[in-house]
Amino acid sequence: MQDLTTSMRTDMCGHLTAADAGRTVSVCGWVDRRREHGEHLAFIDLRDHTGVVQCVVNSSHDLRSEYVARMTGAVRLRPDDTANLDLATGEIEIEVREIEILAEAEPPPFPLDERTDVDETIRLRHRYVDLRKSRMQRNLRTRALVNSAVRRGMEEQGFVEIETPMLIASTPEGARDFVVPSRKEPGSFYALPQSPQLFKQLCMVGGIDRYYQIARCLRDEDLRADRQFEFMQLDAEMSFVNQEDVFTAIGHAVANAAEAVTGDRPSVFPRMTWLEAQERFGSDKPDIRFGMELVELTSIFEGTEARVFQAPCVKGIRMEGGVEALSRNQIDALVETCQRWGAKGLAWMKVIAGDSGPALDAGVAKFLSDTESSAVIDALDAVPGDMVFLVADERRVVRHVLGLLRLELGKPPVNEGGLHFLWIVDFPLFETIADNGVPVPAHHPFTMPHEDDWGLLEQTGEALLEVRSQSYDLVLNGWELGSGSIRINRSDVQNRIFELLGIGEQERRAKFGFFIDAFQYGAPPHGGFAFGLDRLVALLAGETNIREVIAFPKTQSGADPLTNAPSQIDGGHLDELGLRVLPPAT
Ligand code: ASP
Repeated sequence: MQDLTTSMRTDMCGHLTAADAGRTVSVCGWVDRRREHGEHLAFIDLRDHTGVVQCVVNSSHDLRSEYVARMTGAVRLRPDDTANLDLATGEIEIEVREIEILAEAEPPPFPLDERTDVDETIRLRHRYVDLRKSRMQRNLRTRALVNSAVRRGMEEQGFVEIETPMLIASTPEGARDFVVPSRKEPGSFYALPQSPQLFKQLCMVGGIDRYYQIARCLRDEDLRADRQFEFMQLDAEMSFVNQEDVFTAIGHAVANAAEAVTGDRPSVFPRMTWLEAQERFGSDKPDIRFGMELVELTSIFEGTEARVFQAPCVKGIRMEGGVEALSRNQIDALVETCQRWGAKGLAWMKVIAGDSGPALDAGVAKFLSDTESSAVIDALDAVPGDMVFLVADERRVVRHVLGLLRLELGKPPVNEGGLHFLWIVDFPLFETIADNGVPVPAHHPFTMPHEDDWGLLEQTGEALLEVRSQSYDLVLNGWELGSGSIRINRSDVQNRIFELLGIGEQERRAKFGFFIDAFQYGAPPHGGFAFGLDRLVALLAGETNIREVIAFPKTQSGADPLTNAPSQIDGGHLDELGLRVLPPAT
């Protein structure tokens, strides 16, 4: 245990045990709870970040909830029948001789126990009080542990920590930039970095070889439980590598973090192609803690009489014991939900015990021929008591909807099922083709296409969707932790990509001129990765909401109830910046 003594305290509240009986100690902290005991005595639970200790004081002292105090006295064993074995310090108490009130306190704005559910805005407005809760203490300390394990992991492998600037020109991550107006050049703006992408690649041109940074990234996007305007990434880049080298390096740092928190080192992370992930899990970030995989049924329904299954693709999932688990109302709600997700419908059937083995019943069962029924049962390995759900549609829609349905029906709680890391590889280079025929890149435009697919880059239109890229994601329990790629270091390939993306000569110069120029001076083959520390910490801490692992987060609407950011600035300041605020659009 670390020595945390100071000139004011000899011990930490939560560390005192029966072994300390007889010692005179001084502890400092906040009054957690007060109970009167008879006429003259009171029990005060004094709390610091290590826990609470019971202090016996004279009841005449005015010690209220959250007062800050220093208590000095002898540690003694509690009488046997009053020991509290649920508490680390439950066998002892301090017989207080001297009390020093270090600060008085207003009554706390909300109770600090873990049971009371407090509105998040109120928690964030008084975050300094909220941080005293053991949950927040634990989460922030877990976060620090992860940061230091990750740092160590990178340094052990020769990565050099380099800080890149916050005030920059735009980065090509594809989200909206936060901008900062320039006073010296009114009408011009800096962008805050969406990532250090361009700088880290320039570090490779600069011979750094292995760069890393625990970097703050800013993206002006709508917030969700797993997203904040500003977030932290472990950002890394390395030279003379292929994607396996990047996996080894990042895997080492992530395994360090997981081990630091859980005590177990995860084994080598498996890999799955993007296509396989889509086909089997209907997602590019599959949660592989549970089965319920999407099963291909298209060939069973080739030439089917049943209208609902006359579609380019049919897949199904099986819910074990679904007949018991789901009411008719719940099933109807699922059908509606799937329609909202974009499917024409959701076909469901119960599996019952028929005369000669399992059979399909209810729902759309009557539309299936006997051969189709038994083929579906076989393909899904269904047994009586299961529910089966089928979607027939365009392949893209089938995967998407069944992927979401699978999560809806089977996803375990965040802290169950262990940590299942997974590399997703061979992403498509382009997401879709826009109406004007221009492909939409899946990542930033410096992502290297798969070498086997370079030939396809000469094509146009839909054929381009076949091009795979050398980019990859790291997924943990259904969350995308981060992504990276091998970068383009050849100007012919880069030019072709710009051409395909419709980024003309002028725009290239304006946006990336400095970057393209740098590559004329000898750019090594390189690649890298970035993963979100907030998400990793949240998962390791068993939290679903990343705000629980950030000391001072913004609310879902992007506001900070503590400091009232964002706030207005005065007219003089605006003048200096050459800015005028327009009245709100009506
Ligand atoms: N800069 C990318 C991102 O932030 C990651 C990478 O390609 O290294 O998503």
